[in-house]
Amino acid sequence: MKQPLLIACDFDGTVTKHDTLVEILDRYGSPQWRRVQEKVVSGEMSIREGLRQEMGSVRAGPEEIRELLQTRVELDPGFPPFYTETRALGIPVVILSGGFDLCVETVMEKQGIWPIPYLANRLSRIDGSWRVEYPYPSETCADCGHCKGDPIREWNAKGYATVFVGNGVTDRCAVLNATLTFAKDELESWCRSQKIAAVSFRTFHDVRQELKSRNWI
Ligand SMILES: [Mg+2]
Ligand SMILES: [Zn+2]
Repeated sequence: MKQPLLIACDFDGTVTKHDTLVEILDRYGSPQWRRVQEKVVSGEMSIREGLRQEMGSVRAGPEEIRELLQTRVELDPGFPPFYTETRALGIPVVILSGGFDLCVETVMEKQGIWPIPYLANRLSRIDGSWRVEYPYPSETCADCGHCKGDPIREWNAKGYATVFVGNGVTDRCAVLNATLTFAKDELESWCRSQKIAAVSFRTFHDVRQELKSRNWI
């Protein structure tokens, strides 16, 4: 690879084994939340509206949420060595989360990989309710919270070859722009249905092996 490489990773279910939002909603959200999520995955409801409704039903405060995430959420065991190795090679690794700043910070701090570069939606607590804020509005995409396609296009324009690793519905715009995609779960099925090339993976050990075999790292 002659171009410099940049690796962007989805957070929930990709860097982590468990989805932080699923953990929060299963414990503290409305019992209806899975129906909302089904509408988001099918395209009936925007990601923004889904997040707003899902988090809007959560009554637990930040301390309860932090404690839940610290006890429940583990990392993909392949991620820490992958991150250490790519950093040693001078390759930037950035987390692009379709979820929330509070979740990325809580989990990564607890796991001892902090600070780490990341972009995420912002959670704020107003009068006992959670409000979702989008600090990175997109000019081209009205559906996503912050659109993962935007930063990838910027990195492409700066001359990077972009590798994206993801698993879910908020990752679709990233895939449409990345040089190379690694996909699993819902994202893998979506890529297949759209006939978009993506390398299937289970853990970051697979990502590392594939990048090695291509001589990209
Ligand atoms: Mg995910
Ligand atoms: Zn988008």
